[in-house]
Amino acid sequence: MALVRKFGKHDLFITMTCNPNWPEIIHELRLGEEANDRLDLISKVFNMKLNALLKDLLHNGVLGTAVADIHVVEWQKRGLPHDHILIILRSQDKSRDSNDYDRIVCAELPDKSTHPELYNIVTFRMLHGPCGAIHPSCPCMVNGACSKGYPKTFQPQTEDSTGSYPTYQQRDDSKTFTHPT
Ligand SMILES: [Zn+2]
Repeated sequence: MALVRKFGKHDLFITMTCNPNWPEIIHELRLGEEANDRLDLISKVFNMKLNALLKDLLHNGVLGTAVADIHVVEWQKRGLPHDHILIILRSQDKSRDSNDYDRIVCAELPDKSTHPELYNIVTFRMLHGPCGAIHPSCPCMVNGACSKGYPKTFQPQTEDSTGSYPTYQQRDDSKTFTHPT
């Protein structure tokens, strides 16, 4: 709150989550071990990658020059570590219109043929659900409907929602993904 009072509201809210399938973890497991057996290994690899991300964001300014930042690593129960990062950018680097938002955020499926690795990461790690009638026990389900509003309607272009998150572009571009059940 002290940072917001001095520098204004944050511009970027980024979450990084540990992936137990990172090669740096998998390659160091001994016979019969799973990633959850090696919290020492998970901590080291996560910290290494987090520092690389923070260096890109805060030192190299890949999304703009930060005037203030704060981040916190959390472990939820037996879950994997993840880091919440809040960044306040200098005035000239703040996103002000849909072109600015589209430059740093994409809420559409990557092209499977030109970016196969990115497509696999996004479809495996970054999609909501499956929820709705086919998965009524999903934690997001409240009174028979998804409390997060999925599936979202198509959005021809990014729109700024003053005081809240923008509504990101999600064009009806015929790209689809079916979750393996
Ligand atoms: Zn849902």
